[in-house]
Amino acid sequence: SLFRQLRFHTTVNDLHMLPLGGMEVAFAGRSNAGKSSAINTLADHTRLAFVSKTPGRTQHINYFEFGEDRFLVDLPGYGYAQVPEAIRAHWEKLLGMYLATRPNLIGLVLLMDARHPLKPLDVRMLDWFIPTGRPVHVLLTKADKLTRREQAETLAAVQDKVGGWPQCTVQLFSSLKKTGLDEAEAMVGGWFAA
Ligand code: GDP
Repeated sequence: SLFRQLRFHTTVNDLHMLPLGGMEVAFAGRSNAGKSSAINTLADHTRLAFVSKTPGRTQHINYFEFGEDRFLVDLPGYGYAQVPEAIRAHWEKLLGMYLATRPNLIGLVLLMDARHPLKPLDVRMLDWFIPTGRPVHVLLTKADKLTRREQAETLAAVQDKVGGWPQCTVQLFSSLKKTGLDEAEAMVGGWFAA
């Protein structure tokens, strides 16, 4: 399977140092959204995405490789309250530039805690990326923290809000319960196959 092939590739410290070639799928989300857990769960590898992780404090971008010239880009979490506003604003601007202009980027996986999806910064990420015309797949994480009924309601509400963008899809996901893995894998695999 696609994600099980993931291997750590490299860490880059600034957006001018990104690899030149290849195709990449980026994983983005608010700090604490469950991104590292999701990458580790998808890769079936407990420590993979905790390489050099210091939540919200670094602007390190981790590259993982699926195989030749295919990458998963683990972007630093945004919205971390402990980081001074000026630094956050600077980083968010860089993130926006990356999402809007990176030619190698074929799709975005946007992770949101299912208990509070579509925060203003999440919407800003969508505003930056949607104009590229490329697909976005939203993972509503930590779904295990909601009842079945709340899960269904949240999924429907988020689908309704992003429904105006045909390239935007949404699913529930839980690293803890290992649910939603196949659906996420099928989506990202489809992007690489297209
Ligand atoms: P990141 O900052 O987005 O990389 O988030 P992490 O993966 O480090 O997760 C943040 C917190 O949420 C940690 O305490 C995780 O244990 C917890 N978490 C992550 N995924 C899940 C999940 O699927 N279910 C539950 N209940 N907790 C989760």
